[in-house]
Amino acid sequence: MAKPFSGNVFDKNQDESRQGEAYTLDLPAAPGLKKMYLESYGCQMNFSDSEIVASIMAENGYVPTPSLEEADVVFINTCSIRDNAEQKVRGRLQEFRQYKKSKPDMVVGVLGCMAERLKSKLLEQEKLVDLVVGPDAYKDLPNLLEQVDTGQKAVNVLLSREETYADITPVRLGGNGVLAFVTIMRGCDNMCSFCVVPFTRGRERSRDAQSIVEECRDLFEKGYKEVTLLGQNVDSYHWTSADGTSTVNFAQLLELVAQISPDMRVRFSTSHPKDITDEVLMTMAAYNNICKNIHLPVQSGNSEVLARMNRTYTREWYIERVNAIRKILPDCSITTDIIAGFCGETEEQHAETLDMIRFAEYTFAFMFKYSERPGTLAARKYTDDIPEEVKSRRLQEIISLQNEMSLKSNEADLGKVFEVLVEGPSRKSELHYCGRNSQNKMIVFPKGDVKKGDYRKVKVTHCTQATLIGELVEED
Ligand code: SAM
Ligand code: SF4
Repeated sequence: MAKPFSGNVFDKNQDESRQGEAYTLDLPAAPGLKKMYLESYGCQMNFSDSEIVASIMAENGYVPTPSLEEADVVFINTCSIRDNAEQKVRGRLQEFRQYKKSKPDMVVGVLGCMAERLKSKLLEQEKLVDLVVGPDAYKDLPNLLEQVDTGQKAVNVLLSREETYADITPVRLGGNGVLAFVTIMRGCDNMCSFCVVPFTRGRERSRDAQSIVEECRDLFEKGYKEVTLLGQNVDSYHWTSADGTSTVNFAQLLELVAQISPDMRVRFSTSHPKDITDEVLMTMAAYNNICKNIHLPVQSGNSEVLARMNRTYTREWYIERVNAIRKILPDCSITTDIIAGFCGETEEQHAETLDMIRFAEYTFAFMFKYSERPGTLAARKYTDDIPEEVKSRRLQEIISLQNEMSLKSNEADLGKVFEVLVEGPSRKSELHYCGRNSQNKMIVFPKGDVKKGDYRKVKVTHCTQATLIGELVEED
């Protein structure tokens, strides 16, 4: 079932608590306007795309509703990254069937990566679907809806080399008014062998730097205190002006955004280990408001597996990058993504991944079992030969070790004082508020006199493996 937005839980990448979240916006009843129900799955970029969809739909007279029963149009923004992500969407489409039975005019549209991967096949497989729209075609939604109104099915899955939606101001829905996500680039050119993203989101393109800075400034002026710059590989951000006379790389963009105000925090995700430069690390060091956390997906700790994954770095290269982070940014936390049981992975190679977790001392990790995706390099070149029970056992070993490391890292913070950006009430109690420190660790503390959006000093007094618990420190 779709969950209403909980208001205070934002994680980069794939946040399990947001899967299936329905967009809502507190609006007065608006007679005559049509209602759109929009449910999102997958990574943060998909959630940001939903804000672009909401903006395009608002321009065309649709308001978001949290109620499926009331909706004239139902959109599901989908993810294809692993098979279980697609199965979740298929299950949800089955549930939509009953609503469509009682309301046959209701339009059902599948958006995002699954739409792109399956194209018109989706219309054959899922008979209730009227509309299939890929991630680069959202501006065409009004035309496609008109086509559906005439009784036809509609599909637009064209990928673009240019579309960045730089000219669309996203409607910030369901957010907490403190944190916002800003897409700085789209697509990916990396072709990691396990990954479907280059096929579903097309070629990499960087958004106009000026439009990014303006969007971030506008967010700050509206009261937002933290922006996260999003891209599949932010370190390869590269924008060239139309006349070719000026260029902006990622380190320069970070600096431009950090300079908007020292009171606005800047985060970014995701960094690719092959591309993260010392220039980026130095820029992070130079600005207090650039948060000291780097999401640096390792995927595997073994060089042969990394080569089969086509990650284009080795174990030694990754270790060198971790050492550079430690040297230039001694208080920076590192988080990661790990895949267990990739094609041909031996026990020794898996042991090297465990060893990497110990070495890098990740404070948090997204951990997955390998899931073969049709059409990817790995699906064409290698056999998905690791038995399910071996994948599960390896994943469990990775999770147990990472849990130990997260706890150890949190215990090392006991007694320390951190500046926290207050995000709102904690999930468990209205009497407690929560916010993150620069290292992206969540800290929960008794509410006191704080307000959402305040920066406050909090001393850590207790911890669990997932959360720091603290008390407000009186400021002079
Ligand atoms: N662009 C980011 C990068 O290069 O690290 C990651 C993007 S992807 C949306 C997020 C994560 O999903 C990846 O880092 C990887 O760990 C995981 N992933 C991608 N394809 C997968 C697959 N076929 N099976 C299991 N996990 C996968
Ligand atoms: Fe996928 Fe690799 Fe691109 Fe990340 S960098 S989106 S894992 S192809």
